[in-house]
Amino acid sequence: MSSSDEVIIVGGGPVGSVLALFLARRGLKVDVFDRDSGLRTDLSIRPTVNLTLCERGLRVLRTLGVEEQVREATVPLYGRAVHGRDGSTTFQPYGNSREALQCISRNKLYEMLLRCAQQQPGVTYHFGQRCLDVDLESNTLTFQDLQTGTTIQRQAQRIVGADGAFSIVRQRLQRSSRFDYSQQFFPHSYVELTVPLQQGGRPPFERNAIHFWPDGEVGLLGMPNFDGSLMLMLQLPAEGGDCSFEGLRTPEDVRRLFEERFPQLVPLMPDLATEFFSRRPNPLVTIRCSPWFHQDKVVLVGDAAHALVPFYGQGINAGFEDCATLDECLTTHEGAWGPAFRDYSRLRKPNLDLISDLALQHFWELRERVGDPSFHLRRKLERKVNSLYPDKYQSLYSMISFTPMSYVEAWKKEQEHQALIEQLMRLDDIEQRWDGPEVEAAIHQMMGSRR
Ligand SMILES: Cc1cc2nc3c(=O)[nH]c(=O)nc-3n(C[C@H](O)[C@H](O)[C@H](O)COP(=O)(O)OP(=O)(O)OC[C@H]3O[C@@H](n4cnc5c(N)ncnc54)[C@H](O)[C@@H]3O)c2cc1C
Repeated sequence: MSSSDEVIIVGGGPVGSVLALFLARRGLKVDVFDRDSGLRTDLSIRPTVNLTLCERGLRVLRTLGVEEQVREATVPLYGRAVHGRDGSTTFQPYGNSREALQCISRNKLYEMLLRCAQQQPGVTYHFGQRCLDVDLESNTLTFQDLQTGTTIQRQAQRIVGADGAFSIVRQRLQRSSRFDYSQQFFPHSYVELTVPLQQGGRPPFERNAIHFWPDGEVGLLGMPNFDGSLMLMLQLPAEGGDCSFEGLRTPEDVRRLFEERFPQLVPLMPDLATEFFSRRPNPLVTIRCSPWFHQDKVVLVGDAAHALVPFYGQGINAGFEDCATLDECLTTHEGAWGPAFRDYSRLRKPNLDLISDLALQHFWELRERVGDPSFHLRRKLERKVNSLYPDKYQSLYSMISFTPMSYVEAWKKEQEHQALIEQLMRLDDIEQRWDGPEVEAAIHQMMGSRR
């Protein structure tokens, strides 16, 4: 790799900015083009729901020296608060050691990473530039200036597609030979709603938790804003029947839905219907493709390579890991782009296929099973085994959220762990005795026989 190598990154979202930081640290000249104006102000059309960062994403930010700064804007979430229709709340901690996800406003994170990357020597941002096409033969990109309408062409030795789920760069690769691609829309779309601060500036709910109202086909989860108000993500089928975005036509329909399913929230949300109709439902999509590169010229990262539904909270975290892996591959191959791209795609693709599947499954778990007593019991047993054998036993959720273990490795361990939990679940009166000495003895015996 020579420092005269020029890289163009299409997309200055969080993943594009993180990659810009990695590449600039290698002494490369990096130009980032984004169709956005650079001011993320149009909240009515952009999804702005808060995000959770977990260990795997934070670790990448740590490598780049920006973790502390980002953490200043986060709210730690220590577990799930599950709300019943009767107003009851059950708290399920993520672990025994105050493990926490870090919740941050999406726009805040975008801005912070953008600012860090802009300050890095070698990185230049070009806003208001929509990528229209990529010529793979000549490595030429065509951009349209969204203010003047004029088009410009730019050539670069390397092109990175970091332009999100509906990536133009990926669309161009789709027309090249032997490129696999699939896109699956989730039946549910979502809108975000706010539960404002209550009288006297009180947060409406516990600030350091993620909130769930499990209710069959309707999904509702809430993440705290930095000021303590709650950002809700309401998930409904896009179409079909009264209980869908298509079927909710009037303010009365929306109020009725909440009165029937989430009565606790109605008095807390005076602007519910107005807010609901001011937002356009956003679709959720899973996108898979392969390979994630073209020769030694083009590579995809983040949602451009793998869009997943958000139910495991892994999209950005995985995107940041893409950047770290690509950087490691460049080191391993001493800057030879072709072999680095190939290795990067080979290492990451199976992991992303797996987390895409887990994210889809997690939807059902969040909506139906978090309210189920046997699900709670399993989680309690998992925490029990973990408290006795913290180095040997972690739940799948913990391995994914609180360790940098690869998704594939975590899944393999989970198969062994589930066999053990199944055995415990079959013990007599386990519901009553799960925290007692007999169960503890059974755990020691089972773990001992696995050594
Ligand atoms: C509701 C919801 C909740 C989520 N929650 C979480 C969570 O808790 N944790 C988590 O890890 N992930 C979460 N995600 C996923 C996360 O938002 C994405 O994985 C992440 O935004 C991907 O980052 P990116 O930079 O790859 O793409 P994007 O964020 O989509 O950024 C792409 C950038 O490319 C630009 N662009 C697009 N097309 C062009 C073009 N033609 N020309 C020029 N520029 C272009 C865009 O303006 C944008 O700036 C969630 C997603 C959703 C929808």
